[in-house]
Amino acid sequence: MTLIDGKKVSADVRAELKTETAAFETQYGKKVGLAVVLVGEDPASQVYVRNKIRGCEEAGIRSFAHYLPATASQSEVEELVSALAADDNVHGILVQLPLPRHLDEEKILACIPTAKDVDGFSAENIGRLAMHEEGTVACTPSGVMELLKRYEIDPRGKKAVVVGRSNIVGRPMALLLLNADATVTVCHSRTADLKAECAQADILVAAIGKPKFITADMVKNGAVVVDVGINRVDGKLVGDVDFEEVSKKASYITPVPGGVGPMTIAMLLKNAVACAKRAVR
Ligand code: NAP
Repeated sequence: MTLIDGKKVSADVRAELKTETAAFETQYGKKVGLAVVLVGEDPASQVYVRNKIRGCEEAGIRSFAHYLPATASQSEVEELVSALAADDNVHGILVQLPLPRHLDEEKILACIPTAKDVDGFSAENIGRLAMHEEGTVACTPSGVMELLKRYEIDPRGKKAVVVGRSNIVGRPMALLLLNADATVTVCHSRTADLKAECAQADILVAAIGKPKFITADMVKNGAVVVDVGINRVDGKLVGDVDFEEVSKKASYITPVPGGVGPMTIAMLLKNAVACAKRAVR
């Protein structure tokens, strides 16, 4: 069994980005710019934003951090995002979710032009992914693809099963695997026989949000198992896969923490660099 080391791959991706951002600055006389908007004081969001800004600094990306109070009005947030949309130094805009309840998330996200949608959440970017066209893809599923690539696991012709169909993980994950020529099954809470579906997978991706939900009896011998889940149990981080038992059957497996998690920010930075390169070409 090979443990897929997300920390190492994430560090490799970031190191490569540093070279790319330096080359961008030399050629275009400005840095790749990523704006991060945080509304309110949610502690988890504050940590995520801090890590994203630190990631930008390390990768040579100029960050534009905007902090608005939880009481900010719909028009204040929309005006800020629209101003960032018009700023040539900003190549990507990220609005940290969730937003305070009184704000209309959809309307605010609609102020981000597709070309600056670093999260890949817009209908147009999801449509491009569905049509196998170039665009920005959500960071977590593209992080999974990067892990597969770096470990030379080619999905072509393989049977891939994705458990979860959320817009930010499961759905784009399934499309990415399909675009990589896997034969893809998407499972969800209404799937009739989840165990039988999972047991057929050469590549099994769990994105459910339930600790240790995928047990060894659901996994084929030699399967590649990717655990996207992040669940806090008794103060510890636990994935959606019962790692101890499933790792005895898997050929490759991602741990939690240290698997998919570290890839998300690396892919956000990679998306920002890609947005900047598209903006100048
Ligand atoms: P989500 O929006 O809650 O979606 C969960 C999906 O799992 C849904 O499609 C749901 O099916 C399915 N599901 C729930 N119970 C099920 C069951 N009993 N059998 C089969 N399918 C079931 O969650 P998410 O945002 O996709 O996140 C999934 C997990 O990934 C969470 O643990 C989250 O913390 C983690 N995550 C990690 C990262 C990272 O950076 N590593 C990033 C994002 C998310 P229905 O559609 O039928 O309800």
